[in-house]
Amino acid sequence: MAALQQTFDEVLRRNPGEPEFHQAVREVFDSLQVIQDRHPEYSDAGIITRLCEPERQIIFRVPWVDDQGTVQVNRGFRVEYNSALGPYKGGLRFHPSVNLGIVKFLGFEQIFKNSLTGLPIGGGKGGSDFDPHGKSDDEVMRFCQSFMTELYRHLGEYTDVPAGDIGVGAREIGFLFGQYKRLTNRYEAGVLTGKGLDWGGSLVRKEATGYGAAIFADEMLKARGAGLEGKKASVSGSGNVAIYAIEKVHQLGGTAITASDSSGYVVDENGIDLELLRQIKEVERGRIHEYAERRGEGARFVEGGSVWDVPVEIALPCATQNELDEDAATTLVKNGVLAVSEGANMPSTHEAVQVFREADIAFGPGKAANAGGVATSALEMQQNASRDTWTFEYTEERLTQIMRGIHTTCLETAEEFGRPGDYVLGANVAGFRKVADAMMAFGVI
Ligand code: GLU
Repeated sequence: MAALQQTFDEVLRRNPGEPEFHQAVREVFDSLQVIQDRHPEYSDAGIITRLCEPERQIIFRVPWVDDQGTVQVNRGFRVEYNSALGPYKGGLRFHPSVNLGIVKFLGFEQIFKNSLTGLPIGGGKGGSDFDPHGKSDDEVMRFCQSFMTELYRHLGEYTDVPAGDIGVGAREIGFLFGQYKRLTNRYEAGVLTGKGLDWGGSLVRKEATGYGAAIFADEMLKARGAGLEGKKASVSGSGNVAIYAIEKVHQLGGTAITASDSSGYVVDENGIDLELLRQIKEVERGRIHEYAERRGEGARFVEGGSVWDVPVEIALPCATQNELDEDAATTLVKNGVLAVSEGANMPSTHEAVQVFREADIAFGPGKAANAGGVATSALEMQQNASRDTWTFEYTEERLTQIMRGIHTTCLETAEEFGRPGDYVLGANVAGFRKVADAMMAFGVI
């Protein structure tokens, strides 16, 4: 423990004011003692210390002109964290809360997540404190073009391959790809994923993160008895991840009864009407209260409050980091929750995770449960490399197999290290081991 503690103290000292990054590192370190004991060669080679330091961190100015003709300045980030297993891979987040610490926490998580997929992708993340909400399409376009005008020199299908995350969807990826193509004079489809279906995108990519989180919940439940069928689920968020988690819960025979945004949440005892939710959130970019108003009977909007107060058997946090705290976890456990599958990145606080683990709830951490998105990005890269397009059915089948594989890897690794059923330990150790072995092979670089 002493060596790990010392490394962690050093992380705190060298990265002041980055609580989310500290939290993500601590959560992985909590699992690594078991592997450190069996394999001291990793720490002898400085693997853990090297893993805590990104290979490269890029911070840049993003100037653009708004519709009033006023010059605006945002900050852009790309943290190229680890390329042991492949080109840096991870999304871009456009949200006012984005700062270097947030991008580092996301990039750190991404290393282990991408390793767990079994596909050849390293870990990275980027974004900006730009807020696309309330901006016109023209403003979003000018921002994206300015952002890419700096970032393009760092990207490439063998170097660094961004995708979307919060605030970055098909519209933003379109503007970013168009500008990359124009600057480089290359139709290099494999440089970005999450592209539109007509210009190099993959079927199932949009659905993949949410689908994967629901499939992971189903696998965890099956490992302990019966799957999702006939069970009620609460889902937080109403973006891409939440919408398709709801869809897959329904396809697997469960009922998702909630969705939320920053203004509050809706409960619909009959099951969320996906068409209506998509119309309001994807097409109209509206607020969640409109769902309850338009749906009528059986649906209600709760302003503020916690979506985790609603009694369910399965919880799928699909909004953002630290959205589910100790009190929420305690309430869920009291109400009889059986499984928690994290669709978002680090949505449960450290204390909430302890509550779930102590109560022996099947808890799927984000780096395992939400890996379906980035895994399908890697499938998009495969299609781009072979200039091919796959069918929905084939791509979905690949996604399902990858999620089942991650689930099995987590369970087997937890078992191997004497902690059966502990998905947190299984995900961290299995994700770490592959990256560490590759780093060992490369020597000290
Ligand atoms: N932003 C997603 C994640 O957190 C997807 C990243 C990607 O597809 O590269 O994993």
